[in-house]
Amino acid sequence: MKELWERAKAIFLSTLRSDEEKSQAARYFSMITSVCVENGVFQILTLNSFAADFLKTEYAERLKTCLDLAGGDKSLSLAFRCSPSAQPPIILPPSPAAAAAPSRSVNTFISTMPLNDDYTFDEFVEGPSNSYAYAAAKGVAEHPGEIGFNPLFIHGGTGLGKTHLMQAIGNEVRRIKPTLSVCYLTTETFLNEYVNSLQKGRAAITEFQNKYRKIDVLLVDDVQFLQKGKQFQEEFFNTFNALKDAHKQIVMTSDVAPKNLSVLEERLISRFEGGMVQEIESPSYETRLAILQKKAEGITPVIPDYAIRFIADRIKSHVRAMEGALAKIKIAMLLNPGVSLTNEMMTRALKDLIEKEHNIKKLTIREIQEAVARKYGVTIEQILSPERTQSLVTPRQLAMYISRKYSSKSLQEISEPFGKTHATVLHGVKSITKRLDVEEELRETLHQILNEFGINPDETVN
Ligand code: ADP
Ligand code: MG
Repeated sequence: MKELWERAKAIFLSTLRSDEEKSQAARYFSMITSVCVENGVFQILTLNSFAADFLKTEYAERLKTCLDLAGGDKSLSLAFRCSPSAQPPIILPPSPAAAAAPSRSVNTFISTMPLNDDYTFDEFVEGPSNSYAYAAAKGVAEHPGEIGFNPLFIHGGTGLGKTHLMQAIGNEVRRIKPTLSVCYLTTETFLNEYVNSLQKGRAAITEFQNKYRKIDVLLVDDVQFLQKGKQFQEEFFNTFNALKDAHKQIVMTSDVAPKNLSVLEERLISRFEGGMVQEIESPSYETRLAILQKKAEGITPVIPDYAIRFIADRIKSHVRAMEGALAKIKIAMLLNPGVSLTNEMMTRALKDLIEKEHNIKKLTIREIQEAVARKYGVTIEQILSPERTQSLVTPRQLAMYISRKYSSKSLQEISEPFGKTHATVLHGVKSITKRLDVEEELRETLHQILNEFGINPDETVN
């Protein structure tokens, strides 16, 4: 019963969009003392009658849907009442429907790209930076294709666990619903297959279309690459609609939010936003520690706690970099058997990674221009051109701004590779500085670009 409630709660929370709604819900959920089932009624007992009233009027309907989605008996009704002292929950016997496992044969569909067996929910460390994405992914794995979760769109910086979470959905669906066909692939592979089929002619195109329109759970990684091809967008849109109409599950990841996939057609973006959008952020210190502890399990020689804390203190932006740090510490231990690693030894072992975190002054103007151009789906030539349309002015000025803050170059040195005057660059930097104060979208884009370089702007003193 408790498990059913926990699942329903997770589903409910993952449907909320704003932080305000989320914290309000969390507050009221914390006033629930227990749950139980009595005479076909799912009872939610609360600390005070105010909480019971609030939950009833604000959440009752949605909570009931979530309970159903979580696998609760659909005939159960929902009631709320005040009961400060928690009562022992009454455990329901398992429903006969759930007990009788379907006897359909296991699916033999082969995913375009293999799933990594290690990318499971069990291996994923949950924390405040990813809990909503995690809950939504679990919800999808347990109820693929259900309304409200379709499509699921997970976005966030590189190395923060998007692919892991997406593949965890695939692995979990295979485990609990082996009759469903699951297909994982990156957008680039998808695009390449499509281009190949175009070259081979009609029959190959039809084959391509049929293949992807029959899948039960389609996992498409890194859809920011959709920005590469207009015609492919059209094909993707059609595949997407065919699957959605057939109530098949679609999961996508991207390094930016749908609204920032600037080159995509509006209808595609609104389709992506039509289900559930969840973000993964950089992990907090506690989450970093937990992830490192999990990743260090089973490593020999055993990585001591102080080394784990040393890494968590210094490597903050990427989980992937944290894994690299563990490997380096392991090598340092192997090279120095029987010696306790000193801070100095660890600093040396992690030199490159720590530099990447801190020594952001090393970015080159070219790297910055490339990253900004990629993010906005424009070319470097366009960034450097004299054209003054807003769609070019913003990326151009943003590239100037990043160059000013994150390369060690002077205004003069920056103006040259931009082919502009010193005054134009200064104007660009000022304009972005002002806009960043008021435009959240621009702030997010900036964060994402910096994230690619392993820079967390919140921690940069500049
Ligand atoms: P992304 O697709 O966002 O770039 P990945 O999913 O490839 O990132 O994650 C990079 C590495 O970090 C993977 O090895 C993954 O297992 C690990 N990782 C990321 N987040 C977590 C987490 N919360 N718990 C455990 N491992 C994680
Ligand atoms: Mg990835």
